[in-house]
Amino acid sequence: KRVNVALGDRSYDIHIASGLLSLAGGLIKPILKQQRVFIVTDENVAKVHLGTLKAGLATQNIEAFEVVLPAGEATKCFAVLESTIDQLMAQGADRNDVVIALGGGVIGDLTGLVAGLLKRGMRFVQVPTTLLAQVDSSVGGKTAINSKIGKNLVGLFNQPEMVIADQDVLQTLPVRELRAGLAEVIKYGLIDDLSFFEYIELNAEKLNAASPEALAEAVRVSCESKARIVSEDETERGKRALLNLGHTFAHALERANGFGPALLHGEAVGCGMAMAMRYSQALGLCSGQEADRAEKGILALGLETDVRKLAGGPYEANALLEHMMHDKKAEQGKLTLILAKGIGQSYIEKQVDVEHLLAFLKTETA
Ligand code: NAD
Ligand code: ZN
Repeated sequence: KRVNVALGDRSYDIHIASGLLSLAGGLIKPILKQQRVFIVTDENVAKVHLGTLKAGLATQNIEAFEVVLPAGEATKCFAVLESTIDQLMAQGADRNDVVIALGGGVIGDLTGLVAGLLKRGMRFVQVPTTLLAQVDSSVGGKTAINSKIGKNLVGLFNQPEMVIADQDVLQTLPVRELRAGLAEVIKYGLIDDLSFFEYIELNAEKLNAASPEALAEAVRVSCESKARIVSEDETERGKRALLNLGHTFAHALERANGFGPALLHGEAVGCGMAMAMRYSQALGLCSGQEADRAEKGILALGLETDVRKLAGGPYEANALLEHMMHDKKAEQGKLTLILAKGIGQSYIEKQVDVEHLLAFLKTETA
């Protein structure tokens, strides 16, 4: 399966199928000027999938250099950015070379930035190995590291040459990471695709069991959805904000939790989307039936939708509101949120009343 991200002369393909790691050599060879690549990965992924990728490259006589970084969000920092660049230079990487990001969103975000900076820009390929990375972070060209002030503050828009998403690699993913990725999958259904939401309802069990066929279909539709939205609004001046459905709530939950390991981003997004639907219902925008159905869909993926039961709590209404206003600067008591008129009917609401939102958060956390 192939999905094209249409961005004029920076357009690229997302290849989606089980077993692609072994075929990566054939996919990448046409873009190489020298028969070698530089792989950046993390130590967890290196253990289970680096060998398969290297074997796939070797079938086409492509030499592979590698940089193996520590796993985890802390890797998205200036120190690792610098050491990665130093290691690539020491290995002789030059402007004509291609860097491969083999890993989850952390490796993809960091490597995309490294590739954008090194020698004023090298080409790079995304080989996402988490579900979140396959449906979200590897597509769209946002790259970044974190600064002391906050997450993703230092980065570039930098599109890859191609994305290779192999669903076999998802077999080794810890179950919590799989579910966190499923939150971003169901997000695309909730944003603007009722029939995809129905597909997820019908296949929740298979998706939870990491069925490669069900995942490949889910990744395909998710990537088509993200590709379409990104093509229309690459730098997030408008429609791309829809991808933040549930995310302002989620960021508040993550922040209240101190971004600790108790709560993964996707877990927060699952709960955040349910909150967005319930708040839409509270505003009379969508029916209780639709909000309940959305919540059931999220629950069926093994995610939590009740703030009171969510890991990392207890969460407190005033603190959550403060974090939400920090996340999206409130102006004159009004906040921008992604709300929905139903499943698959989300929109950007710029006039959310902060006082009213606080009352809602109190009912959610009481
Ligand atoms: P991650 O990269 O930290 O991966 C999660 C964990 O799974 C890590 O411990 C990793 O080593 C391990 N892992 C990865 N693949 C594995 C596999 N196949 N088998 C076993 N273990 C594996 O986290 P993530 O959830 O993929 O990405 C989160 C990051 O993505 C955040 O930094 C976030 O800011 C970023 N992000 C970026 C965008 C974007 O548009 N650029 C979008 C969403 C999220
Ligand atoms: Zn997200």
